Amino acid sequence: MSATAPDPRPLTGEPLALDLLNTRWLREGAVQDLLRDTDGLAVWLAANGLDGRFPADAATLRHTLRARDALGAAVDGPADGTAGGTADGTAGGTADIAGVDTVLGHGRIRPTLTAEGPGERAEFRDEAWGPGWLAARNYLELLSAAPDRIRRCAHEACVLHFFDSSRNGTRRWCSMAACGNRAKASRHYARAKDA
Ligand SMILES: [Zn+2]
Repeated sequence: MSATAPDPRPLTGEPLALDLLNTRWLREGAVQDLLRDTDGLAVWLAANGLDGRFPADAATLRHTLRARDALGAAVDGPADGTAGGTADGTAGGTADIAGVDTVLGHGRIRPTLTAEGPGERAEFRDEAWGPGWLAARNYLELLSAAPDRIRRCAHEACVLHFFDSSRNGTRRWCSMAACGNRAKASRHYARAKDA
């Protein structure tokens, strides 16, 4: 297997659905996109342990981007900027969730019996839908676990998402080092200006 390039993203390690959204981020106001090409797809698949299972080809990239658009609409509302999700953090309207439901239609869970006992396996008519489907299914798991902990970074100039696994559920930033301190610095600046 050829070595993949290092993962350039500022935030990694979130659950698969949110890690897919985190393939887009802002650097000095410009949108960066790891899934611009199949090389970037290879990096993303490897980061999520999916590289042995799915090829980083053009069809997989196309379907994975469709899944990313669908998840983005469900989590943040439609791309036209109007608000989608409700203030309490639950999923948006039916138009916003239809895309994820469509992606889910491209795969299914097959129950299995193995030597180790009961199991299940994801099956796809078209394997190119595999990574996007797994991300959509992971979104269902997050919704079942704690929909209010699916968050977007509170910094207005940040598009990253995370699943808040802190004990008190008070995480607001993608990272304290990046956005948390930026917000603190601008509050400090505002106070200094008022004084
Ligand atoms: Zn952030």
